[in-house]
Amino acid sequence: MCPDLFFWKEEFIMVQQLFVGITLSLAIGWGGYKKRALSASGALGATLVGTAIFAFGGWRWGVLLVLFFASSSGFSFFKETEKQTVSEKFEKGHRRDIWQTLANGGVGALCAVMTVLFPSPVWGVAFVGAVATVTADTWATELGVLSRRLPRLITSGKRVAPGFSGGVTALGTAAAFLGALVIGGAAPMLAIVPASSMATGVTLALLFAVAGLSGALVDSLLGATVQILYRCPACASVTEQVVHHRCADTPTQYVRGIRWMNNDVVNFISSLAGAGIAAVLLYRFVM
Ligand SMILES: [Zn+2]
Repeated sequence: MCPDLFFWKEEFIMVQQLFVGITLSLAIGWGGYKKRALSASGALGATLVGTAIFAFGGWRWGVLLVLFFASSSGFSFFKETEKQTVSEKFEKGHRRDIWQTLANGGVGALCAVMTVLFPSPVWGVAFVGAVATVTADTWATELGVLSRRLPRLITSGKRVAPGFSGGVTALGTAAAFLGALVIGGAAPMLAIVPASSMATGVTLALLFAVAGLSGALVDSLLGATVQILYRCPACASVTEQVVHHRCADTPTQYVRGIRWMNNDVVNFISSLAGAGIAAVLLYRFVM
């Protein structure tokens, strides 16, 4: 085949994939907005992340992202009323905004861009590790708050209120492992990371589950140590909110943490950690 023609064919596939990526991501962003899982800015963030992942990673990567998004949104509406008081503790309630979507999908989107700039199988591995981590973290948050027992702080073991950053429960930890396992199991099925004779699908799923759970634990560790925390002077409860919404937007007071280390930054760092841990584990044991 004439090399010029080949070049144009590649370009055509890229443009086609970009078009499909934008269309699908817009549909998902719009659906998330309509279902009240995303705010307007969150729909934009989801569209940006989805477009990068569909267009540069391909449809198989896109399916993994949809698996994360659909399962996480589903769980956030699960037993919604029981979680109402707890969700007030979280900074923004459960409609995800642009910062939350970038914090959850940003590392995955970067991996997709990198796979085009510097082609290597490592980006696929890192991508699955990042998605496994954010899935683990979201499942742990959404299901862990339903635990009958009070969470314990991951650092000191001290009992803390449900929803308190850095608090872990057995239920939440199990949910984290399961969420990462689902993503890790889907990755070889979708051939994002091909199962070889060296590594069966089961081995890959387990390694990704360990990576995702580790990433989620990094999230809890940062949440218990350096994440910013405020106290509401009106009701004395600890919150991530700069103004306490439940107390007519009373300005809160600084308790501890690094000023810029909010929940979104912690999420981004932990998904980066999960991506790195997945790469190290897979290259150490199976690749
Ligand atoms: Zn208050």
